[in-house]
Amino acid sequence: MKKGLMNFLKNNWFLILIIVIIGGSFIYSNEAQEATTKTNEVNISQVVEQVKNGQVESVSVNGTRLDITLKEAVNGNKNEFAFKEADISLTQYGITPDKVKIDIKDTPKSSPWVEVLSFILPVLLMGGLLWFMLRQAQGANNQAMSFGKSRARMNASNANIKFADVAGSEESKKDLIEVVDFLQSPAKYRELGAEIPKGVLLIGPPGTGKTLLAKAVAGEAGVPFFSISGSEFVEMFVGVGASRVRDLFAKAKRNAPCIIFIDEIDAVGRQRGAGLGGSHDEREQTLNQILVELDGFDTDTGVIVMAATNRPDVLDPALLRPGRFDRRVLIDLPDIKEREAILQVHAKGKPFTEEVNLNVIAQKTPGFSGADLKNVLNESAILAARNSKKAISMTELNDAVERVVLGPERKTRVIHEDEKKITAYHEAGHALVSHILPNGDPVHKISIISRGRALGYTWNMPEQDKLLYSKSHFEDEIAILLSGREAELMIFGELTTGAQNDLQQASKIARKMVTEFGMSEKIGAMSFHGKDEMVFLGRDLAESKNYSEKTAQVIDDEVAVIITKAEAKAHEVLTKSKDLLSKIADVLMEKETIEREEFEKLITDFSVA
Ligand code: ADP
Ligand code: MG
Ligand code: ZN
Repeated sequence: MKKGLMNFLKNNWFLILIIVIIGGSFIYSNEAQEATTKTNEVNISQVVEQVKNGQVESVSVNGTRLDITLKEAVNGNKNEFAFKEADISLTQYGITPDKVKIDIKDTPKSSPWVEVLSFILPVLLMGGLLWFMLRQAQGANNQAMSFGKSRARMNASNANIKFADVAGSEESKKDLIEVVDFLQSPAKYRELGAEIPKGVLLIGPPGTGKTLLAKAVAGEAGVPFFSISGSEFVEMFVGVGASRVRDLFAKAKRNAPCIIFIDEIDAVGRQRGAGLGGSHDEREQTLNQILVELDGFDTDTGVIVMAATNRPDVLDPALLRPGRFDRRVLIDLPDIKEREAILQVHAKGKPFTEEVNLNVIAQKTPGFSGADLKNVLNESAILAARNSKKAISMTELNDAVERVVLGPERKTRVIHEDEKKITAYHEAGHALVSHILPNGDPVHKISIISRGRALGYTWNMPEQDKLLYSKSHFEDEIAILLSGREAELMIFGELTTGAQNDLQQASKIARKMVTEFGMSEKIGAMSFHGKDEMVFLGRDLAESKNYSEKTAQVIDDEVAVIITKAEAKAHEVLTKSKDLLSKIADVLMEKETIEREEFEKLITDFSVA
């Protein structure tokens, strides 16, 4: 506390100086005022003289003081004062009410108490202020202290998460078993002189179970798990992030063997020196501290640092150097078998009807992450509860998949008859072109019931998980995206805003084809996907250009060419099957949704007829 006070005085000398100056000037001004009073002081004989000469307007007795008010200003001052000597009476001096107005005030204007108070009050005020500030500063100190303390959570409850709770990801688990083994029996490795990685970086898209895997490693090894999220570092005072890192590592070392888990490390681990706010921002200090700590401990201590990211491309290369996060574990989106396994894990404890087959759901959900699948099961349970059912049936599961993909249906939205017709043709256009083009995915469902922000939707999905995409696949995809707009144009001769989202997606794909996949003739086999985006501006806001203005022009031209070609393709398909388009649109207006089987039947019936 004493030290704290000293520190406070040291840190706040400027403030204290200001207070002293203000207080001093306050006291000084009091004295100065008294001084002006004194200059006006006259002695009693002068007063007597003035009264005799009839210069005095009035005399007022004010305790020990006489205040004389003159009729006319003398030296520009109408008020003069004289101190009354001890028990003199005014009559003794011949100052009588017939000569001048005399006013006697019983209560002295400045009693001793007032004197005392006027001295003590400022002191009290200043003291109080000082005390208040001290308290504030101390509070802030304490707070700063607890900011500095890492908010890492030590989670005993996580200890019961095991690899068995993580479905699929067998490859990743294999990589991590080694880490578990080291944590359990470090001696075995040390004796052989084997060097154990300090840092393990888990890389994968969001929701693929990175956090879950890290917890499972701790659970399998039976060691404490300290987790902190990168985004938590990036807040408040400068220097706090760094001290939090220091504290986290200190805490971990005390609890070794254990795991430190830094989630979303890209939030602090972005490339240094690229920020706009000067090079020494908070984030960099935190990152530097992480690097220092990583270098500063031996694997002997039994601490293993795990981190997770979905943006390995933006990480500072320093993090990936040997002796830091040199072990990398990739986690991919689950394939069909893994999806089924994940569904099984989260199906535990939920009642299902007999006919439920999770394999069917797994088939329907390529591209879903583990978190999405968990969400599907949760949504299905909610839907079943809402429908007052005792068990979850296939209906709820299918609805839940759609909800997760497309957002909830909005059946209550009233759609004008005209809009309904336009939407029907728009969606029929998407569905038809998707069906006819060789690279189009099968149409699962068409609907003109609005979902989320879309008025209608066509849901087409690949048969299997796709890893490679060809140029013609993208070309067809763009044509399918543009076919809704094309259908509107063909039937109504006018465009609406309904195609906005389609156009955005189409442009995005076309641009990627040119700048990233080397799929345009004029640009050729070059990729301009910049790694060096402006870090401080965040992810996609400022993708910096690493090509010339001239190249930019060529890129724009090439994108336009791709779009125009796709537009023509969509137009051609739709013109050829205009009658079929109208047929689908009619059915759609009548039934509002068409499922896959119905759609396929509609098309075969039509071609037979
Ligand atoms: P990430 O950290 O990669 O974003 P999480 O680990 O937070 O993903 O996953 C979110 C949730 O999704 C987990 O809590 C878990 O319930 C579920 N999940 C994800 N992947 C799997 C998996 N392979 N097996 C079981 N559940 C999973
Ligand atoms: Mg996570
Ligand atoms: Zn559309």
